Amino acid sequence: MSASPADVTAEASRRRSFAVISHPDAGKSTLTEALALHARAIAQAGAVHGKGSRRGVVSDWLDMEQARGISITSAVLQLTVDDVVLNLLDTPGHADFSEDTYRVLSAVDCAVMLLDAAKGLEPQTLKLFEACRVRGTPVITVINKWDRPGQEPLALLDEIEQRLGTLPTPLNWPVGIAGDFRGVLDPATDTMTQFTRTPGGATVARREELDAAEAARRHGREWRTAVEELELLTASGQVHEQAEFLAARTTPVLFTAAVLNFGVAELLAAITSLAPPPQAWQDVQGRPRPVDAPFSGFVFKVQTGMDPSHRDRVAFMRVCSGRFERGMILTHGASGRPFQTKYAQSVFGRERETIDEAYPGDVVGLVNAHALHVGDTLHDGPAVRYPPLPRFAPEHFAVVRARDTGRSKQFRRGIDLLDQEGVVQVLVSDRRGAQAPVLAAVGPMQFEVATHRLEHEFGARTVLEPLGYGIARRTTASATPAVDGKHGAEVLRRTDGTLVALFTDRWRMGTVETELPAGSLLPMFDTG
Ligand code: GDP
Repeated sequence: MSASPADVTAEASRRRSFAVISHPDAGKSTLTEALALHARAIAQAGAVHGKGSRRGVVSDWLDMEQARGISITSAVLQLTVDDVVLNLLDTPGHADFSEDTYRVLSAVDCAVMLLDAAKGLEPQTLKLFEACRVRGTPVITVINKWDRPGQEPLALLDEIEQRLGTLPTPLNWPVGIAGDFRGVLDPATDTMTQFTRTPGGATVARREELDAAEAARRHGREWRTAVEELELLTASGQVHEQAEFLAARTTPVLFTAAVLNFGVAELLAAITSLAPPPQAWQDVQGRPRPVDAPFSGFVFKVQTGMDPSHRDRVAFMRVCSGRFERGMILTHGASGRPFQTKYAQSVFGRERETIDEAYPGDVVGLVNAHALHVGDTLHDGPAVRYPPLPRFAPEHFAVVRARDTGRSKQFRRGIDLLDQEGVVQVLVSDRRGAQAPVLAAVGPMQFEVATHRLEHEFGARTVLEPLGYGIARRTTASATPAVDGKHGAEVLRRTDGTLVALFTDRWRMGTVETELPAGSLLPMFDTG
């Protein structure tokens, strides 16, 4: 049953694993639906396997999630397009924005940055882009909602270049201003793809290829403007070069109206042809493990209670090398113990299917894998350990206490587990004591998940007392006395030993920082 290295290499090379990074409302769910629709349409047009059932795109688990209509879990949508396997990893947004959102980015080879044409770069996009930048992940930019009034395309590109420091290189260019989206100019062929609406956008938009003369005849001024703007960008060197994109120095740009399915086929083509397939993954010592080496993978997130009827626990593992076969017995790097993979599944929203095999770039959900924690490596053959996942800068802080002091043992056990699982970061100090730890989170939803689990899994009802801090920095033991106890500032210790200075705001931090030697306050973004 085991695959030859050549088979694994071939399977790896046809995979593209990516995530969409965006600010809420930019159109991520709509785009995901549209990509699924196109992929299926292509698969069906080619009369291949096309799975007929239309899957819902919204993933959901806990009741609180359903009540609010938001998605807490990140799951994976797998699509096959022209023999390329796309793994689209969901990045939770909205109020459920959390450390998991960032962690997903540790498991992908590429990201699609989705912008609203009217709004340009928004706060959550910037944060997620930063996480990609630190890892050197290549980013494809999509400017969405071109069917609605928005900014000038050149201004949007300028903003990307100025604020992100990456050079935008258009793969296509809109014909018609935002709000009057007629089609896109493809600079590679000097043709226009004209889009026509289909009612409600329910089916793939009708596309018509026009040569330059026909495009000029039908779209006159709009066509000429597009040609001129693109010439301007070409003249300033804003032209896609694959090596520059892979090195994350440039970002190819496309224009879409996801709700109308305009430009979505073009995006799908860009992902399949430009996004990099899985490469050798670097271990903790920086040594690359080739994709055709014996099996290895790492856990990038652990989700508990995804299935309301089971309240089970799923560890999501990204495959880095080799072929995964359900039932194989792997080694759990952290404990050195054997690990059974009988219950491997693909997880997408509420749907789960048993997964029998997986290749580099794929994601496997391991059900009820209680021994697995975020960052753990599983392997077959020669041992390997992948770097721990970075922890991200929390922006929300709250003291948590057991409501009933008689349950303090359960409370402590729960806190330790949530900390290990990376549900929240746990900060302590001698002053506050072990019974009143500070929970630190990237998004407030992490607190709700934590208190919900403390109560339901550990039987420890809690009281949460939000703290007025909004910013965290790593600090040093020598700087601690000068920071701790200052008005609007405090130093606590994270369980991995990192000293974390909290401040109410940037201004407060600035005043404290002036009294400290340089380098006393460092960004929290650990690079792993
Ligand atoms: P998400 O929060 O990023 O997942 O955004 P959604 O996909 O839920 O979209 C937010 C809103 O924008 C919804 O009302 C969508 O119908 C709308 N929307 C998404 N894409 C487009 C688009 O291309 N054009 C227009 N006009 N509206 C869009």
